[in-house]
Amino acid sequence: MQVAIIGAGLAGLTAARQCQAQGHHVTVYEKSRGVSGRMSTRQTELGGFDHGAQYFTASSDRFKKEVADWLKLEWVVPWESKLVKLDHSAVSAVTNENKRYVPVPGMSSLGKQLAHGVDVRLEQQVVALEAHGEQWILSVKTDEVPVAASAGPFDAVIMAIPPEQASVLLKAHASFSHQVADVRLQPCWVLMLGFQHPLNLDYDGAWVANSRLGWIARDTSKPDHRAGERWVCHATAAWSVEHLEDDHERAKEKLSKAFHEATGSPIQAIHAVTHRWLFAQADKPLPESHLWDSKAKIGVCGDWFASGLEGAGRVENAFLSGLAMAQSIG
Ligand SMILES: Cc1cc2nc3c(=O)[nH]c(=O)nc-3n(C[C@H](O)[C@H](O)[C@H](O)COP(=O)(O)OP(=O)(O)OC[C@H]3O[C@@H](n4cnc5c(N)ncnc54)[C@H](O)[C@@H]3O)c2cc1C
Repeated sequence: MQVAIIGAGLAGLTAARQCQAQGHHVTVYEKSRGVSGRMSTRQTELGGFDHGAQYFTASSDRFKKEVADWLKLEWVVPWESKLVKLDHSAVSAVTNENKRYVPVPGMSSLGKQLAHGVDVRLEQQVVALEAHGEQWILSVKTDEVPVAASAGPFDAVIMAIPPEQASVLLKAHASFSHQVADVRLQPCWVLMLGFQHPLNLDYDGAWVANSRLGWIARDTSKPDHRAGERWVCHATAAWSVEHLEDDHERAKEKLSKAFHEATGSPIQAIHAVTHRWLFAQADKPLPESHLWDSKAKIGVCGDWFASGLEGAGRVENAFLSGLAMAQSIG
């Protein structure tokens, strides 16, 4: 079959590789300039910032097996980090035996490895689907040309994108369209801080209580990341929702203040940049692994499916969902 996959995050790339392994001809459309989606690294003159996913864990046997392969290939390494809990700069220990992994040299490098041998069309946003007999034609927009071009025909379409974006394309094309329309991902404001000298903080990451921030991490504590002192700070979902329409300057000021309050460090950053994820992580995921309409030959997958795990919105969910999606095509 000719299969179109929309989205080159971990779910889309996993689905693409599995579909290829099953003998299908795959084309992946990705609206951004690079692959990896929310497993992303922002490059700056100070070095990279992993400003989306921070690390990943593996709980299912299937994902553990995949991670073991990635470790052998040296695409990912364990992140031996000291993580703590902060409450108004009071530090308490966290006991969590989970092994944490990071792609090297940055979060986005895993997607780049997985995309080798896959036909990924970058900077091509799918803006509509149209039925063409039993097949599908995609309308694809690029930045250079204002008018969308047609792509296809395809025998099957897999959407590996957030539910809000999938809903726009799905319309009433699939039997499960209404289920997708009910799922929402929460936003997340991120602050990236670079310092001239190391901060006197003896931990690598912290969950923050009673703050605008929910999580901070010393990006430069991750193996094979360029030296320096770079921190990534994630606002809580509640604060991000409330301040969704704030401008970047205002968000930067508020989150920088929260960083100083949480860590007790008075040192000013030499680099401070914010990023707003409109769709970061699902709070009410669907329990399935994916949805597939075998008649229309349209499917959706992504980290907003729990795939039998407790909770969702993580790298492991994206992988399991992409894999199951491809396997159900046959
Ligand atoms: C701030 C933040 C922190 C996180 N922290 C962690 C963590 O610590 N641990 C963890 O395990 N997970 C974490 N996650 C979640 C993790 O990043 C995701 O679970 C995973 O990367 C999702 O992969 P995906 O393939 O489902 O979706 P995505 O990575 O979102 O991929 C979807 C892709 O589709 C593209 N796209 C969308 N619409 C279209 C279209 N119409 N046409 C073409 N392309 C399109 C997008 O550009 C994107 O590249 C975090 C996420 C965020 C945002």
